Amino acid sequence: MTALPIELRADCSRCVGLCCVASSFSRSSEFAFDRDFGTPCRNLQDDHRCAIHARLRTSGMSGCTTYDCFGAGQRVTQELYGGRSWREGPAVAEPMFADFWAAQSVHELLWYVSEGLERVAAGPVQARLQALADELDALMSSSAALRAVDVLALPALVQPALDEVVALVGGGGPQHRRADLAGRRLTELRGATLRGASLLGADLRGADLREADLLGADLRGADLRGADLTTALFVTPRQVASAHGDATTRLPSRLGAPPQQWG
Ligand code: SF4
Repeated sequence: MTALPIELRADCSRCVGLCCVASSFSRSSEFAFDRDFGTPCRNLQDDHRCAIHARLRTSGMSGCTTYDCFGAGQRVTQELYGGRSWREGPAVAEPMFADFWAAQSVHELLWYVSEGLERVAAGPVQARLQALADELDALMSSSAALRAVDVLALPALVQPALDEVVALVGGGGPQHRRADLAGRRLTELRGATLRGASLLGADLRGADLREADLLGADLRGADLRGADLTTALFVTPRQVASAHGDATTRLPSRLGAPPQQWG
């Protein structure tokens, strides 16, 4: 197994609450109030901690529990800004917010590429993945490098290599690429192509999702109780946190502990 020496999970203790100010949301079932981009959340404390962290769901802020910056927040804060905060004023805040959003995109792609490196032990695909990881990581070396890149074009850069990973270790199951499977009851999904599929509220209880390609699949509200995702491909913390699961859900080991809200 090859692991990247890069943190790809959020560590809020080393961030300055970037996602709680450099983002926006509208009042909905996931957020209790409106907030504009650049306006600090009313629940963000001076120490950059959330005052309602332990009761986000019961406070109508479930949307915050499904968010993960893939480690971009602490990296921008510590490596690009030396621990400084947007609270110092616009001269810091404006570039910091822009860097944070670009960094999130880069770190999300690093999440997928790093998984490929873990799954493909050797050979030309592994070499291509390593080159991509180095290229993406180099973008994190400075604000100038981040600002020079077209983040919208980056997914196309990594897509071919990720396809090769799927061809080597996944596939062979039902083809549901970008399919609308919202609310459907599905169980036989081993090796399925679910890339970009909508699985909103889908009933996936007991489903076999081993080797299924879940890149970009929308799992919000999907019922994963008893489902087996141990070798599913390209599953993210955001996807898992947005779904329903419990102790019987089997997750890929790289995701670590199940989301707190699963109990
Ligand atoms: S409720 Fe808490 S986690 Fe959500 S945006 Fe506000 S401060 Fe951040």
